[in-house]
Amino acid sequence: PLNPRTREVPVVPQGISRDDFLKALEELKAELGEGNVEVNDKPLKDGWYMEHPNTHDMMTILDEEECVAGAVVYPGSTEEVVKIVKWANKWLIPVFPISMGRNLGYGGAAPRVRGSVTIDLGRRMNKILDISPQDYTCLVEPGVSFYGLYEELGRRGLRDHMWVDTPDLGGGSIIGNTVDRGVGYTPYGDHWACHSGLEVVLPTGEVIRTGMGALTQGGENTWGVFPYGFGPFSDGIFSQSNFGIVTKMGMTLMPNPGGHESFMYTFPNEEDLGPLMEIIRPLRISTILENVAQLRHVTQTVAASGLPKSKFYSGTGTIPSETIHRAAAQTPAGDHTWAYYGMCYGPSHIRAYKLAIIDAEFRKIPGCRKIDPFTLPEDEYFWSRDRIASGTPDIHELRWVNWAPNGAHIAFSPVSPIRGPDATKLFQLGKRIHEQYGIDFMPAFCVGLREMHLIVEIVFDRDDSEEKKRALGCLRDMVDEAAKEGYGEYRTHLVLMDQVAGTYAWNDGALGKFNEKLKDALDPNGILAPGRCGIWGKRYRGRGWEM
Ligand code: FAD
Repeated sequence: PLNPRTREVPVVPQGISRDDFLKALEELKAELGEGNVEVNDKPLKDGWYMEHPNTHDMMTILDEEECVAGAVVYPGSTEEVVKIVKWANKWLIPVFPISMGRNLGYGGAAPRVRGSVTIDLGRRMNKILDISPQDYTCLVEPGVSFYGLYEELGRRGLRDHMWVDTPDLGGGSIIGNTVDRGVGYTPYGDHWACHSGLEVVLPTGEVIRTGMGALTQGGENTWGVFPYGFGPFSDGIFSQSNFGIVTKMGMTLMPNPGGHESFMYTFPNEEDLGPLMEIIRPLRISTILENVAQLRHVTQTVAASGLPKSKFYSGTGTIPSETIHRAAAQTPAGDHTWAYYGMCYGPSHIRAYKLAIIDAEFRKIPGCRKIDPFTLPEDEYFWSRDRIASGTPDIHELRWVNWAPNGAHIAFSPVSPIRGPDATKLFQLGKRIHEQYGIDFMPAFCVGLREMHLIVEIVFDRDDSEEKKRALGCLRDMVDEAAKEGYGEYRTHLVLMDQVAGTYAWNDGALGKFNEKLKDALDPNGILAPGRCGIWGKRYRGRGWEM
């Protein structure tokens, strides 16, 4: 839908007059070309995942006009990115870089500060600069998506040779997802751990390369194979931050393991969660369970069918447990509470060895069922997990967003050890607070290696302001209560960044102060993505921006 603007357009960032803002944009047009600077004064169009807007968050939890861009600009090269940041410093205009802006559930393409100029890097900077079949590496620009790289491997006849690790949705940017420390589901699922070397435009316009790319000459030769280079390892400060704009990144790719086989087990009771985690931990840490494993609650499994809640339940409040189990009983995977989706890699004799161990361990949970994949129809969610865990991008995961009309979602994602008592505590905490707010509870535990993220997706109607208020209240309470128990988020939505950063306050907020010191040194005018990850430059601090 086209949403008419409800506040004055164009949105002018605070601290600059409307005339000066428009004059500054004219100046930028002269640098980048008329067509590469767009004022955001049209109705806001939400589109859908593959045709998402770059002006705002199409799944906004606040009013759509809150976190909205004043203009969007399209650089075509690192040199043009430099021109933009120099321009921003001259006019003291906040800029917000996105690679592709598909960060749905975490703020989409929206800037934190209303009226910021969004730098959409991906539209024109979208080249795959290198693919090395010998080293299993690539070098990409911000506009290269997981689908884009997958297709290019196909064009070059390399798909059987190596795989792209992809998140649940394949339309995102490899750089955008990686700098936000996103995850995928093959053994290469920790994207940040799999990247190697960056090119970064600093907020004052200098360009640096980290790792081997920093060599005076010939750095491309080893860029993707050794991430550290020499001296302090600075890459970390360019992830989940606002210290630089990443314009190139090296990424490692996974060799085809010579075979793969998805498996699915289900477990009957909510209370099975604790004992199951005790079984999963040693298997995962020793990599018998090889990929980021997912243990999903039946409510999310039912929602993944893509049918709205109203198909199953016409009452008010949360959907009763019996109704969900009754709906699940109609599906080929059955009515159990937990479903584990895993993938085993390698030739069949190696798989058989690992699968036998997994089978013996999982069957220690009374009532455990192994689902035969060949009983599952082609469009069953299991097959989407199968594609994703074997390097084929997909978008099936979007379906559970249909649970609510005008469906949108926002995530609670605390980290914990893979231990029964932790999983149970977090599960109970989430369930209690969801019940308090009358929201359906859809938890999924994603087991990394030594830790797991509990991902709880709150699905809400983006056109219902009362429902949005409840979703945000529920999320804020979960963040605070989890923090009291010693659990912190691995990543969060734009709107919650101050709150989550505030939970990492050991030693009188020492880490936050360190981040502010870096911010002020690297970005003295505070122009780059103010407020992202709870980091504000001194021009903004203490002036009521935090929320
Ligand atoms: P962008 O939106 O371009 O970037 C994300 C943020 O990083 C930006 O807002 C910006 O602040 C910063 N940034 C981006 N590029 C740069 C740059 N070049 N320099 C400096 N800063 C930059 N995510 C997962 O990780 N795993 C999942 O399994 C997953 N499943 C999802 C399922 C559903 C149904 C939905 C709706 C979302 C899911 N997501 C998941 C979230 C999201 O879709 C992905 O993380 C997506 O890849 C992020 O969008 P993007 O890649 O276009 O990044």
